[in-house]
Amino acid sequence: MATATKIEFVPSYVQDAWWTPDADVRGTDARDASTGEVLARVSVDGLDLAAVVEHGRTVGRSELGKLTIHERALKLRELAGYLNGRREELYAVSAQTGATKIDSMVDIDGGIGVLFTLSSKGRRELPNSNVIVEGPVEVLSKDGSFIGEHIHTPIPGVDVQINAFNFPVWGMLEKFAPAFIAGVPTIVKPATPSGYLAAATVRVMIECGILPPGSLQLISGSARKLVDQLDYRDMVSFTGSASTANLLRAHPNVAHGGVRLSAETDSLNAAILGPDAVRGTPEFDAFIKSVVTEMTVKAGQKCTAVRRAIVPEDLRADVIVAVGARLTERVVVGDPRTEGVTMGALASLEQLADVRAAVESMMAAGGELAWGTLDAPQVRHTQSPASVVEHGAFMSPVLLDWADSEAPAVHTLEAFGPVCGVLGFSTHDGGASEAVRLAALGAGSLVATVCTNDPDFARAVVMGIASHHGRVLVLNREDARSSTGHGSPVPHLVHGGPGRAGGGEELGGIRSVKHHMQRTAIQGSPNMLTAVTGVWHTGADRVMAGVPEFGGVEGAVHPFRKSLAELHIGDAFASGLRQVTLEDIAAFATSTGDTFYAHTDAAAAERNPFFPGIVAHGYLLVSWAAGLFVEPAPGPVLANYGLESLRFLTPVAAGDSIRVTLTAKQITPRTTDDYGEVCWDTVLHNQNGDVVATYDVLTLVEKENTLYK
Ligand code: NAP
Repeated sequence: MATATKIEFVPSYVQDAWWTPDADVRGTDARDASTGEVLARVSVDGLDLAAVVEHGRTVGRSELGKLTIHERALKLRELAGYLNGRREELYAVSAQTGATKIDSMVDIDGGIGVLFTLSSKGRRELPNSNVIVEGPVEVLSKDGSFIGEHIHTPIPGVDVQINAFNFPVWGMLEKFAPAFIAGVPTIVKPATPSGYLAAATVRVMIECGILPPGSLQLISGSARKLVDQLDYRDMVSFTGSASTANLLRAHPNVAHGGVRLSAETDSLNAAILGPDAVRGTPEFDAFIKSVVTEMTVKAGQKCTAVRRAIVPEDLRADVIVAVGARLTERVVVGDPRTEGVTMGALASLEQLADVRAAVESMMAAGGELAWGTLDAPQVRHTQSPASVVEHGAFMSPVLLDWADSEAPAVHTLEAFGPVCGVLGFSTHDGGASEAVRLAALGAGSLVATVCTNDPDFARAVVMGIASHHGRVLVLNREDARSSTGHGSPVPHLVHGGPGRAGGGEELGGIRSVKHHMQRTAIQGSPNMLTAVTGVWHTGADRVMAGVPEFGGVEGAVHPFRKSLAELHIGDAFASGLRQVTLEDIAAFATSTGDTFYAHTDAAAAERNPFFPGIVAHGYLLVSWAAGLFVEPAPGPVLANYGLESLRFLTPVAAGDSIRVTLTAKQITPRTTDDYGEVCWDTVLHNQNGDVVATYDVLTLVEKENTLYK
């Protein structure tokens, strides 16, 4: 990217083209974190930000809207596969940010992992359409002709993603993936110090040609006026310091204009050690390992890093000795391109100065240096010694011992580097309430670890701190090896936290997709809600095959004979009645071994408040229902892969009869297969018309009737 004579601009990617400022624009330098070499410069001077936003809102929205949720999710999988093959070149760029190979893998592989996970969750858990129906239908009129429910549709604008410098790839992809699945165009604005790595990644993402026009734009440079272009249609997903988040909250377009803002900010995360976890226990070892990992991965520049090790007062000295010993044994500070280096540089000299200043303030407030130094550390490197030491942003890990665990500084100052404080709590009443009180002094955090093998302590602490945190890891000997660790948000679970942590919420599986959508209550008749959502609603029209007495019409074809090309939601089948005898119930009890008294012992069954006497097994009814609705000849229905939401509502006694009605409720063609899923609304009635059971039958059905034609 850089030459000895000419420092190039990191390009922006806007309106589906690469853009750089005029050569005479000065810009801001982006440097190699270890050597201080200027690699590139960034600027948005001359960039028409309004046009960028408008391009997303028009071209991006329209192109994304041409695809279904599954098609978009599938593109993410393709993209992840492509990025996987280009990782080595991104690692090389990542090393320039001060990242070791492991740091780079956390960032780059972690980001690709989010694409894979959300792609698969999107296709498994969401419909293959552009509207998500949420929650149960509410019946709002006595006759069922007026109902209501909630739907999610993509917000009408763009998602402006303003990211922190520490994870230029993961931080970008973990926001891009859910926005893309939701159908919302991304405008990503990486932080200046490491934006060149985000830009290199975007270049690969664009080169592969997988993304629709307008779905991803990149702004390289401090685009302070970007939020000026936004309105209530748009959202800002911000990650960075609390002070920048506060500036954004106060922006008129956010404060008064309805721009949605999600903020992920500072966090003074805690790791709490249980009183049971004394030296020599697996929990003590896991705790020490976790604290050291969190101090050193990414040189401690992780929003989730442990900043406060909250330990029983009488274990404080042991913890300090053990953390110090592990740091001594494991940490080699240096240029990450040098063999044997385990901790790289901070992102920039400015960042180094900030962290040192924060540590000095903490030391002035009572934190005692227990391990490490604020002097320039020993640095292993491949460059000339003078250049590296003078211009590299290197820092030793620093462990502070807090004799006064109430000191405000340890609960308020964030040193965004390899820094952790140890503070003790009294265990006179078991310790949980004291540990909870100290953790809560962080005023809202992203994550806490509770390290204990005592279930009572774990329960008391988790119940006490959960509402102050977005995520809590309970670490003990059983999960110490398999745990993904304190500092790693996973795409399946929520990342974010209340209060100081910003109050935002990211990831969390499909929740992250819905963050980019508007939830709307929709009310109307079953037919209208069926038309809007593509999901059949009870009370809507159907085309019923089967027994005329129960609604079957002449000429209607059994829906099991229809491929997806022929099947419509509302295609249904009504069976006739089948009577249940005492012998049937006894035979089912014998063959299944389910001789529960309600099916076998008349006297005992009669004493049961729910049953009139001996009743049929619920599973007998479900099995019989299958026999009543099935169309057995080979055809387009390939398999039954389960049922959902089964409820038994009215008991069936010997002498009663049952019948079943099956209605195609939702059809989800698989984008990559010759078949799709059909969800069948299933209702069992008795001879009086009472509802006996309700559930959804799930089947796989061919797209075209080919296999058994
Ligand atoms: P920062 O200074 O707040 O910058 C974050 C982003 O905001 C950068 O892209 C920056 O752009 C941009 N920005 C700064 N001022 C702005 C303004 N007035 N209007 C619009 N955008 C603005 O934070 P940082 O130094 O990059 O990151 C470190 C902080 O982030 C730490 O406090 C850390 O705890 C926090 N963090 C939190 C999380 C989380 O998930 N909660 C994750 C990572 C980091 P420029 O770089 O171009 O100025």
